[in-house]
Amino acid sequence: MGERFFIAIAKVVYMNIKTNTNFSNIKETYLFSEIGSRVRAYEAANPDAKIIRMGIGDVTLPLPEVVVKAMVKASEEMGSQETFRGYPPEYGYGFLRDKIAIHYANLGVTVDPNYVFVSDGAKSDLGNIVDILGENPIIIPDPVYPVYVDSNTMSGNKITFINGTRENGFLPLPDSLNESENEGSVIYLCSPNNPTGAVYDKEGLTNWVDFANKTGSLIIYDSAYEAFISEDNIPHTIYEIPGAYECAIEICSFSKFAGFTGVRCGWTVVPEQLKAGSVSVAALWKRRQATKFNGVSYPVQRAAEAALSDEGIKACQANIEYYKQNAKLITDLLDEKGIFYTGGKNSPYVWLKCPEGCDSWTFFDKLLNEVQVVGTPGEGFGAGGDGYFRLTAFSSREKTIEAVERFRKIL
Ligand code: PLP
Repeated sequence: MGERFFIAIAKVVYMNIKTNTNFSNIKETYLFSEIGSRVRAYEAANPDAKIIRMGIGDVTLPLPEVVVKAMVKASEEMGSQETFRGYPPEYGYGFLRDKIAIHYANLGVTVDPNYVFVSDGAKSDLGNIVDILGENPIIIPDPVYPVYVDSNTMSGNKITFINGTRENGFLPLPDSLNESENEGSVIYLCSPNNPTGAVYDKEGLTNWVDFANKTGSLIIYDSAYEAFISEDNIPHTIYEIPGAYECAIEICSFSKFAGFTGVRCGWTVVPEQLKAGSVSVAALWKRRQATKFNGVSYPVQRAAEAALSDEGIKACQANIEYYKQNAKLITDLLDEKGIFYTGGKNSPYVWLKCPEGCDSWTFFDKLLNEVQVVGTPGEGFGAGGDGYFRLTAFSSREKTIEAVERFRKIL
């Protein structure tokens, strides 16, 4: 009997709902898909080429043993009637909130554990914080980690960019901003910065905190790369700066500190002192989280707690040291060749000026075609990134050494 074929004709039904039209204002970044397609085309034409990837912002070393053991033990507890746990507290278990407060005490500042909110990572909190804010002027550095821009665009907020440049070391200060025109702004700062690796010193951050307090503004401080800081006079937390408890939310992550990019855990500090008029900002964040978030899993929080134990910190620091040695291999070559860069010292990112006035995509193609190394064109992080290029230290030592040898031939 012959086979029978059915042709399904889909009936198109149009709904009458309205969607968030702000989404059409989000600039599509084709960055990573464009990188992917150029690399695939090169691989197809050169199947034997050994490509080295220095573009990803993801960790590569496995989790420290102390962290894995804590996660396994907690998972086993979940499999036994006596120790099983259901929903976690929406702001995080006390054991982890306390440990995070101790982490701050070790940095020399006081953070009340009741104002530490555990989450599944910094990206979620950076995106979600917009929920509790009204229509405010938004100030964002350029180039920048794209989440600040896109989440505010989704909410229809108007953004003013402040430019990171070679002249200011990619650390823009508020001196170009008129105080009366920027009353009640929301200011995003990221230090150590992604993509530039640049870090604010005490003086730079004090400028921002003073500006925020004078203008009644809020700083959202992204410290996801804090653990990479090793130089003196670089604040590890914005709360080292006098006046910061009155104007700053700090958002941090276990991703780069403890290798949790695939485990997912972070936290946000919303100090009790933070008041918008008579409204407690922490109360709004509590309400937002309790409504839309059901907490981080118990094994993950136990793993995060272990990362902050003495043994955990030591093991995490050893991994960070490994990445920083990779970064040093790259920056040593740039120093030797006299190429301008920021980052690498307190950060896994090296942000370099493309040689010979190249634009960032031309330099991308040159590296791919001539030495088979893939990095990230700076313009993917904003207009201010054109002419710059981001390399990361997250590869293995062997691959980093090999990449540096290849760079040496063409730089
Ligand atoms: N903030 C910055 C500056 C980042 O570069 C990243 C990730 O690359 C994040 C936040 C996201 O961190 P998480 O993995 O905790 O969501």
